[in-house]
Amino acid sequence: MTKLSIVPPREQTPAEKLLSGIKGIKPPPGVLQCAKCGGRTLMTTTVGASIDEKGRFKRGIVCDDRICYHCHMRGVWSQMVPDKPRIVKEAKSRRAKPKAVR
Ligand SMILES: [Zn+2]
Repeated sequence: MTKLSIVPPREQTPAEKLLSGIKGIKPPPGVLQCAKCGGRTLMTTTVGASIDEKGRFKRGIVCDDRICYHCHMRGVWSQMVPDKPRIVKEAKSRRAKPKAVR
C-alpha cells in the first residue's frame, strides 16, 4: 500500500507566471474578463446565417453567446457571463394514478 504525503508547492513555470500576472490585472469596471485565461475577447456563434437576394446579411440564430475566444481556440469551454442559477423543479411522477377498485 502506498503512503500518502503532502507535496510542497512547486515553482510556477514562466507561462503560469505570465498567466497569473495577466489574471491579476484588474479590468476597468464593467469589462468582462475570462476567469480561466484572463482574456477579454468574447464571441458569439450563430447558426443559419444567410445573405438574401438584395445582399442583406441575416444573422441567424444565436448558438453560443459570450464565450471566451482564447479559451475556445484552445478547446476549453469558458463562459464570460455565467448563466443565472435557476430553480430546478422536482420532476413529476409518470406513474398513472391507481384506479379505485370496486
Ligand atoms: Zn478564456
